[in-house]
Amino acid sequence: MPQAQIIDGKAIAESVRDEITRRAAALLETTGKRPGLAVVLVGEDPASQVYVRNKDRAAEACGFHSVKHTLAADSSEAEVLSLVEQLNNDPDIHGILVQLPLPGHIEESKVLRLIRPEKDVDGFHPVNVGLLTAGERDSALVPCTPAGSLVLLKRTLGDTLSGKTAVVVGRSNIVGKPMASLLLQESCTVTIAHSRTKDLPDVVRGADIVVAAVGRPEMVKGSWIRDGATVIDVGINRIPAPERGERKSRLVGDVAFDEAVGHAGAITPVPGGVGPMTIAMLMVNTLTAARRLLGLPEEE
Ligand code: NDP
Repeated sequence: MPQAQIIDGKAIAESVRDEITRRAAALLETTGKRPGLAVVLVGEDPASQVYVRNKDRAAEACGFHSVKHTLAADSSEAEVLSLVEQLNNDPDIHGILVQLPLPGHIEESKVLRLIRPEKDVDGFHPVNVGLLTAGERDSALVPCTPAGSLVLLKRTLGDTLSGKTAVVVGRSNIVGKPMASLLLQESCTVTIAHSRTKDLPDVVRGADIVVAAVGRPEMVKGSWIRDGATVIDVGINRIPAPERGERKSRLVGDVAFDEAVGHAGAITPVPGGVGPMTIAMLMVNTLTAARRLLGLPEEE
């Protein structure tokens, strides 16, 4: 059986980050300013702590001004809102990211809506959602995971996205919906599938491009993939791996990789596919936000 090209998200993310590092250095030289990223963590969720640390380190490695704010889990909503307000008004901060999930007593949407849309580097503010949906992605900040998935598709397929059929499995606000908007803007014919979709295997079989963002380990089977299709697996699922020893686990995607690799033309692995792109695109968004807030053209 022919084997798919493996899309190396790690290498592509590294090249994106190198480019951002170069552009941040150029910005510093011409304006004396560094792109500034503030990451806000409320509470001590271990996974969130790892994400925040990785984002902070990546920003520093790109030469950004990076600030981490850690608030206690029992901080009041008013305290979190007041910190966001302070960051909104800080001229050295161009990107604000509030790590989700927030503790239950804090209304997430209230916090996300207070972030100035121009500094909303996660792309979750309704203004950015609206701009993307209206086809104005050049003035929006686009959510990092779908933006990174699109970079992987473009690096793999070049300028051939137009007219292709794409199926996005999953309709979350963070991945599925913005991914569908991006693909539509690339003139793909887009279907969004979800838990109520009938005959999902047949729907997926119709696709030249499959983006799986479901959160169910290896749900998309190899036999669902049309021969030669490009598969972007957004899923990150930890499953037990007794073959590696007692209480060991491993990461798998939403696509049954070992099966799909025999059908797809190209496929992202998990780990090492979409995952590394998410942080790289956060760096892209922060630099973009900085240039816009400084009144500079997007490209130097
Ligand atoms: P959500 O749980 O918010 O959304 C999952 C979507 O999958 C929903 O729209 C749901 O449908 C759909 N779904 C669930 N079960 C089925 C099914 N049996 N058949 C068809 N559709 C189904 O997840 P996210 O979008 O936040 O994340 C998706 C995956 O991507 C997760 O594994 C997550 O860990 C990963 N992820 C990875 C990132 C990265 O950096 N690589 C970043 C963000 C997420 P419905 O709406 O009908 O319930």
